[in-house]
Amino acid sequence: MPDTTTTIAQLLAQAAQQGMARVDAQMLMLHVMGQPTHARAWLITHDSDLPSAEQLALWHALCARRLAGEPVAYLTGHKEFFGLPLQVDARVLDPRPDTETLVEWALEILPGDGANQRIVDLGTGSGAIALALQHQRPQAEIWAVDASADALTVAKSNAEKLRLPVQFAHGSWLSPLTGRFDAIVSNPPYIPSADPHLVALTHEPLSALASGGDGLDDIRLIIEQAPAHLKPGGWLLLEHGWDQSEAVQALLSQAGFDDVQSRADLAGIARCTGGKIRE
Ligand code: GLN
Repeated sequence: MPDTTTTIAQLLAQAAQQGMARVDAQMLMLHVMGQPTHARAWLITHDSDLPSAEQLALWHALCARRLAGEPVAYLTGHKEFFGLPLQVDARVLDPRPDTETLVEWALEILPGDGANQRIVDLGTGSGAIALALQHQRPQAEIWAVDASADALTVAKSNAEKLRLPVQFAHGSWLSPLTGRFDAIVSNPPYIPSADPHLVALTHEPLSALASGGDGLDDIRLIIEQAPAHLKPGGWLLLEHGWDQSEAVQALLSQAGFDDVQSRADLAGIARCTGGKIRE
Protein backbone atom coordinates (compact mmCIF):
# COMPACT_ATOMS: atom_id res chain seq x y z
CA MET A 1 0.00 0.00 0.00
CA PRO A 2 1.74 3.25 -1.07
CA ASP A 3 2.07 5.87 1.62
CA THR A 4 -0.11 8.79 0.58
CA THR A 5 0.44 10.83 3.72
CA THR A 6 3.64 12.49 2.50
CA THR A 7 3.31 16.09 1.36
CA ILE A 8 4.88 17.64 -1.72
CA ALA A 9 7.28 19.60 0.52
CA GLN A 10 8.40 16.38 2.26
CA LEU A 11 8.90 14.55 -1.04
CA LEU A 12 11.03 17.41 -2.37
CA ALA A 13 13.12 17.39 0.82
CA GLN A 14 13.63 13.61 0.51
CA ALA A 15 14.84 14.00 -3.08
CA ALA A 16 17.32 16.67 -1.97
CA GLN A 17 18.63 14.32 0.74
CA GLN A 18 19.20 11.69 -1.94
CA GLY A 19 21.36 14.16 -3.81
CA MET A 20 18.97 15.47 -6.44
CA ALA A 21 19.39 19.09 -7.55
CA ARG A 22 16.55 21.21 -6.20
CA VAL A 23 15.49 22.49 -9.62
CA ASP A 24 15.40 18.95 -11.04
CA ALA A 25 13.18 17.73 -8.21
CA GLN A 26 10.89 20.72 -8.67
CA MET A 27 10.52 20.09 -12.40
CA LEU A 28 9.83 16.39 -11.89
CA MET A 29 7.24 17.17 -9.20
CA LEU A 30 5.47 19.70 -11.43
CA HIS A 31 5.41 17.13 -14.24
CA VAL A 32 3.98 14.45 -11.91
CA MET A 33 1.32 16.88 -10.66
CA GLY A 34 0.31 17.79 -14.23
CA GLN A 35 1.63 21.36 -14.01
CA PRO A 36 3.80 23.19 -16.55
CA THR A 37 7.45 22.71 -15.57
CA HIS A 38 8.09 26.46 -15.34
CA ALA A 39 5.25 26.99 -12.80
CA ARG A 40 7.52 26.78 -9.78
CA ALA A 41 5.38 29.14 -7.67
CA TRP A 42 2.69 26.42 -7.79
CA LEU A 43 4.89 24.25 -5.59
CA ILE A 44 4.92 26.86 -2.85
CA THR A 45 1.16 27.28 -2.80
CA HIS A 46 0.67 23.48 -2.87
CA ASP A 47 3.48 22.39 -0.59
CA SER A 48 1.16 20.57 1.82
CA ASP A 49 -0.81 18.74 -0.91
CA LEU A 50 -0.74 14.95 -0.81
CA PRO A 51 -0.05 13.33 -4.19
CA SER A 52 -2.29 10.36 -5.05
CA ALA A 53 -0.94 6.79 -4.97
CA GLU A 54 -0.56 6.91 -8.75
CA GLN A 55 1.30 10.24 -8.68
CA LEU A 56 3.51 8.96 -5.90
CA ALA A 57 4.44 5.85 -7.88
CA LEU A 58 5.34 7.98 -10.90
CA TRP A 59 7.34 10.37 -8.70
CA HIS A 60 9.43 7.55 -7.20
CA ALA A 61 10.03 5.99 -10.63
CA LEU A 62 11.16 9.32 -12.12
CA CYS A 63 13.39 10.12 -9.13
CA ALA A 64 15.14 6.78 -9.47
CA ARG A 65 15.75 7.41 -13.17
CA ARG A 66 17.03 10.96 -12.53
CA LEU A 67 19.37 9.71 -9.79
CA ALA A 68 20.69 7.17 -12.33
CA GLY A 69 21.64 10.06 -14.61
CA GLU A 70 18.78 10.45 -17.11
CA PRO A 71 18.30 14.07 -18.14
CA VAL A 72 15.20 15.73 -16.66
CA ALA A 73 14.13 16.66 -20.19
CA TYR A 74 13.83 12.97 -21.17
CA LEU A 75 11.74 12.27 -18.06
CA THR A 76 9.30 15.13 -18.60
CA GLY A 77 9.54 14.95 -22.41
CA HIS A 78 10.02 18.72 -22.62
CA LYS A 79 12.76 21.31 -22.81
CA GLU A 80 12.56 25.03 -23.39
CA PHE A 81 15.13 26.42 -25.82
CA PHE A 82 15.35 30.08 -26.83
CA GLY A 83 11.81 30.54 -25.50
CA LEU A 84 10.37 27.66 -27.56
CA PRO A 85 8.82 24.57 -25.94
CA LEU A 86 10.47 21.50 -27.51
CA GLN A 87 9.62 17.84 -27.16
CA VAL A 88 12.72 15.78 -26.52
CA ASP A 89 13.52 12.16 -25.78
CA ALA A 90 16.46 9.78 -25.86
CA ARG A 91 16.61 9.91 -29.68
CA VAL A 92 18.15 13.41 -29.51
CA LEU A 93 20.71 15.38 -27.49
CA ASP A 94 19.14 17.25 -24.59
CA PRO A 95 19.42 20.90 -25.80
CA ARG A 96 21.76 22.92 -23.53
CA PRO A 97 21.19 26.59 -22.62
CA ASP A 98 24.82 27.22 -23.67
CA THR A 99 23.83 26.56 -27.28
CA GLU A 100 21.71 29.72 -27.14
CA THR A 101 25.06 31.55 -27.56
CA LEU A 102 25.28 30.11 -31.07
CA VAL A 103 21.72 31.23 -31.89
CA GLU A 104 22.40 34.75 -30.60
CA TRP A 105 25.52 35.00 -32.71
CA ALA A 106 23.68 33.78 -35.85
CA LEU A 107 20.94 36.36 -35.26
CA GLU A 108 23.57 39.09 -34.98
CA ILE A 109 25.11 38.29 -38.33
CA LEU A 110 21.69 37.93 -39.96
CA PRO A 111 19.68 41.01 -38.97
CA GLY A 112 16.15 41.78 -40.20
CA ASP A 113 13.32 39.34 -40.87
CA GLY A 114 15.45 36.85 -42.84
CA ALA A 115 14.15 37.79 -46.31
CA ASN A 116 16.44 36.36 -49.04
CA GLN A 117 18.56 34.54 -46.47
CA ARG A 118 19.36 30.82 -46.48
CA ILE A 119 20.60 29.28 -43.25
CA VAL A 120 21.35 25.66 -42.37
CA ASP A 121 21.65 23.91 -39.01
CA LEU A 122 23.83 20.79 -39.30
CA GLY A 123 23.13 17.95 -36.87
CA THR A 124 19.86 19.50 -35.78
CA GLY A 125 18.87 16.85 -33.20
CA SER A 126 15.62 18.05 -31.65
CA GLY A 127 15.60 20.93 -34.16
CA ALA A 128 16.45 23.42 -31.40
CA ILE A 129 18.79 25.75 -33.33
CA ALA A 130 16.88 25.67 -36.65
CA LEU A 131 13.52 26.25 -34.96
CA ALA A 132 14.84 29.11 -32.82
CA LEU A 133 16.29 30.77 -35.94
CA GLN A 134 13.09 30.28 -37.96
CA HIS A 135 11.05 31.74 -35.11
CA GLN A 136 13.30 34.83 -35.00
CA ARG A 137 13.73 35.15 -38.78
CA PRO A 138 10.32 34.20 -40.22
CA GLN A 139 11.22 35.07 -43.83
CA ALA A 140 14.46 33.09 -43.94
CA GLU A 141 14.78 29.77 -45.75
CA ILE A 142 16.01 27.52 -42.97
CA TRP A 143 17.25 23.98 -43.42
CA ALA A 144 17.91 21.38 -40.74
CA VAL A 145 20.08 18.33 -41.47
CA ASP A 146 20.71 15.20 -39.45
CA ALA A 147 22.31 11.84 -40.20
CA SER A 148 19.93 10.23 -37.72
CA ALA A 149 16.47 9.44 -39.10
CA ASP A 150 15.23 9.17 -35.51
CA ALA A 151 16.42 12.69 -34.73
CA LEU A 152 14.72 14.04 -37.86
CA THR A 153 11.44 12.47 -36.73
CA VAL A 154 11.70 14.38 -33.44
CA ALA A 155 12.75 17.64 -35.14
CA LYS A 156 9.95 17.43 -37.74
CA SER A 157 7.37 16.83 -35.07
CA ASN A 158 8.64 19.89 -33.15
CA ALA A 159 8.43 21.99 -36.34
CA GLU A 160 4.84 20.86 -36.93
CA LYS A 161 3.77 21.58 -33.37
CA LEU A 162 5.38 25.02 -33.45
CA ARG A 163 4.15 25.65 -37.02
CA LEU A 164 7.61 26.70 -38.15
CA PRO A 165 8.39 26.04 -41.85
CA VAL A 166 11.91 24.61 -41.42
CA GLN A 167 12.95 22.25 -44.24
CA PHE A 168 14.62 18.95 -43.44
CA ALA A 169 17.28 16.84 -45.11
CA HIS A 170 18.65 13.44 -44.11
CA GLY A 171 22.39 12.87 -44.44
CA SER A 172 25.89 13.63 -43.30
CA TRP A 173 26.63 17.33 -42.72
CA LEU A 174 26.33 19.28 -46.01
CA SER A 175 26.17 16.24 -48.32
CA PRO A 176 22.36 16.20 -48.81
CA LEU A 177 22.21 19.93 -49.69
CA THR A 178 22.61 21.94 -52.86
CA GLY A 179 23.12 25.67 -53.28
CA ARG A 180 24.85 28.19 -51.08
CA PHE A 181 23.96 29.60 -47.69
CA ASP A 182 24.36 32.92 -45.87
CA ALA A 183 25.19 31.03 -42.70
CA ILE A 184 25.98 27.46 -41.68
CA VAL A 185 25.56 26.79 -37.96
CA SER A 186 26.18 23.60 -36.04
CA ASN A 187 26.46 22.09 -32.60
CA PRO A 188 28.17 18.90 -33.75
CA PRO A 189 29.54 16.08 -31.58
CA TYR A 190 32.85 17.30 -30.17
CA ILE A 191 33.78 15.25 -27.11
CA PRO A 192 37.00 13.18 -27.43
CA SER A 193 36.02 9.50 -27.56
CA ALA A 194 38.07 8.62 -24.46
CA ASP A 195 36.91 11.66 -22.42
CA PRO A 196 35.76 10.52 -18.93
CA HIS A 197 32.99 13.16 -19.17
CA LEU A 198 31.16 10.84 -21.62
CA VAL A 199 30.39 8.42 -18.79
CA ALA A 200 28.01 10.98 -17.28
CA LEU A 201 26.19 11.30 -20.62
CA THR A 202 25.38 7.65 -21.35
CA HIS A 203 21.67 8.36 -21.68
CA GLU A 204 22.17 10.65 -24.69
CA PRO A 205 22.97 9.41 -28.22
CA LEU A 206 26.74 8.82 -28.47
CA SER A 207 26.60 9.88 -32.14
CA ALA A 208 25.59 13.37 -30.95
CA LEU A 209 28.43 13.60 -28.44
CA ALA A 210 31.70 11.88 -29.37
CA SER A 211 33.88 12.66 -32.37
CA GLY A 212 37.20 10.84 -32.62
CA GLY A 213 40.36 10.96 -30.52
CA ASP A 214 40.55 14.75 -30.19
CA GLY A 215 36.80 15.39 -30.54
CA LEU A 216 37.38 17.36 -33.73
CA ASP A 217 36.65 14.78 -36.46
CA ASP A 218 33.21 16.17 -37.35
CA ILE A 219 34.28 19.80 -36.97
CA ARG A 220 37.11 19.12 -39.46
CA LEU A 221 34.63 17.60 -41.94
CA ILE A 222 32.22 20.51 -41.63
CA ILE A 223 34.99 23.09 -42.08
CA GLU A 224 36.21 21.18 -45.15
CA GLN A 225 32.74 21.07 -46.75
CA ALA A 226 31.52 24.56 -45.79
CA PRO A 227 33.35 26.88 -48.24
CA ALA A 228 31.66 25.26 -51.28
CA HIS A 229 28.25 25.82 -49.64
CA LEU A 230 28.63 29.43 -48.51
CA LYS A 231 27.72 32.56 -50.43
CA PRO A 232 30.65 35.02 -50.68
CA GLY A 233 31.00 36.55 -47.21
CA GLY A 234 28.86 33.81 -45.64
CA TRP A 235 29.53 32.67 -42.07
CA LEU A 236 30.25 29.31 -40.48
CA LEU A 237 29.50 29.20 -36.73
CA LEU A 238 30.39 26.14 -34.64
CA GLU A 239 29.85 25.12 -31.06
CA HIS A 240 32.77 23.14 -29.57
CA GLY A 241 34.34 21.88 -26.35
CA TRP A 242 35.72 24.04 -23.55
CA ASP A 243 39.34 23.66 -24.70
CA GLN A 244 38.89 23.58 -28.49
CA SER A 245 38.56 27.25 -29.47
CA GLU A 246 42.20 27.66 -30.54
CA ALA A 247 42.16 24.47 -32.61
CA VAL A 248 38.88 25.46 -34.31
CA GLN A 249 40.18 28.97 -35.00
CA ALA A 250 43.28 27.49 -36.64
CA LEU A 251 41.20 25.09 -38.77
CA LEU A 252 38.96 27.96 -39.95
CA SER A 253 41.90 30.20 -40.83
CA GLN A 254 43.57 27.37 -42.78
CA ALA A 255 40.33 26.79 -44.72
CA GLY A 256 40.15 30.40 -45.95
CA PHE A 257 37.91 32.04 -43.34
CA ASP A 258 38.42 35.65 -42.19
CA ASP A 259 37.19 37.46 -39.08
CA VAL A 260 37.78 34.24 -37.14
CA GLN A 261 36.60 34.73 -33.56
CA SER A 262 35.06 32.96 -30.56
CA ARG A 263 32.12 33.62 -28.23
CA ALA A 264 31.71 32.66 -24.58
CA ASP A 265 28.91 30.54 -23.11
CA LEU A 266 26.97 31.25 -19.89
CA ALA A 267 29.95 30.09 -17.81
CA GLY A 268 32.33 32.45 -19.65
CA ILE A 269 34.03 29.61 -21.57
CA ALA A 270 34.88 30.14 -25.26
CA ARG A 271 32.21 27.78 -26.59
CA CYS A 272 31.55 28.88 -30.19
CA THR A 273 33.98 29.77 -32.94
CA GLY A 274 33.21 31.08 -36.39
CA GLY A 275 34.46 32.90 -39.41
CA LYS A 276 33.43 34.55 -42.63
CA ILE A 277 34.41 32.98 -45.95
CA ARG A 278 36.60 35.22 -48.11
CA GLU A 279 34.61 37.04 -50.81
N1 GLN B 1 27.84 20.38 -24.52
C1 GLN B 1 27.64 18.98 -24.33
C2 GLN B 1 28.45 18.51 -23.14
O1 GLN B 1 29.66 18.70 -23.11
C3 GLN B 1 28.04 18.18 -25.54
C4 GLN B 1 27.26 18.54 -26.74
C5 GLN B 1 27.97 18.17 -28.01
O2 GLN B 1 28.86 17.33 -28.08
N2 GLN B 1 27.60 18.85 -29.04
O3 GLN B 1 27.88 18.03 -22.22
